[in-house]
Amino acid sequence: MERTAIHRRLTWQYASVVDVVAETARTKTIVLHPGDWDGHLAGQHVDVRLTAEDGYQAQRSYSIASAPEDEHLVLTVEKLNDGEVSPYLTDELRAGDQLELRGPIGGYFVWKESLGGPLLLVGGGSGVVPLRAMLRHRRASGSGVPARLLYSARTRDDLIYRQELGGFDAAITLTREQPEGWTGHSGRVGRKLLADVAWPPAERPLVYVCGPTGFVEAVADALLALGHDPARIRTERFGPT
Ligand SMILES: Cc1cc2nc3c(=O)[nH]c(=O)nc-3n(C[C@H](O)[C@H](O)[C@H](O)COP(=O)(O)OP(=O)(O)OC[C@H]3O[C@@H](n4cnc5c(N)ncnc54)[C@H](O)[C@@H]3O)c2cc1C
Repeated sequence: MERTAIHRRLTWQYASVVDVVAETARTKTIVLHPGDWDGHLAGQHVDVRLTAEDGYQAQRSYSIASAPEDEHLVLTVEKLNDGEVSPYLTDELRAGDQLELRGPIGGYFVWKESLGGPLLLVGGGSGVVPLRAMLRHRRASGSGVPARLLYSARTRDDLIYRQELGGFDAAITLTREQPEGWTGHSGRVGRKLLADVAWPPAERPLVYVCGPTGFVEAVADALLALGHDPARIRTERFGPT
């Protein structure tokens, strides 16, 4: 039984692209229908593989943005202008295409209700993607675990899932602008903002931090300096794989 599960996880398969939706100027959400999918846990990712006509292949990891309860498997990809894979996914991929992937992958950066809370999710840039899956899963499963998101983006226009996040307990900070009428936070996530937004260490929140490597390291350091239990902090870095 276990052997079968491992074999399935590592098998590449084609998923049909159902839709490609613009989230921001740099970010697209890709809605997929995999042929063979046994479900996933909120926070897991897939590997995506592109194959050029000459046979050259490139593969990257992408977090699953959808809850296990959602109808489709959803990814959200931020375009790096000088990147190899992300510009293809954001600019070339169309509904009706086939995308090669394998997964779900990952057993550590996942949240399910049995892990409890309170749940503090801290995301930078596209690091909000797996956190969105956790928030959607929490809501869809009717969980009573308190959950709060702290999300950092460069500008208001860079905010991914902006409308949807309004329906959650979400604190947002912008690092590069303070637009007129902005009522959220400003500046990078550090000790002060975490002290304002997070549950105190005595309440033992379960913390998930996801984003670029520098962001994750800075947030984890700040959480530790505030006295949070390292065993209750889980991190995922969106550095090159
Ligand atoms: C578990 C996991 C989940 C992820 N989830 C997401 C997600 O949900 N959404 C998302 O957008 N991204 C996600 N990522 C990041 C994603 O996997 C890719 O790293 C990202 O899309 C960039 O890929 P790319 O091929 O476009 O860029 P790459 O070609 O990999 O380049 C990335 C950067 O590295 C630089 N670079 C490349 N090669 C070199 C070199 N030899 N020397 C110096 N610099 C170099 C490039 O200039 C560029 O700035 C995730 C990563 C991980 C590990």
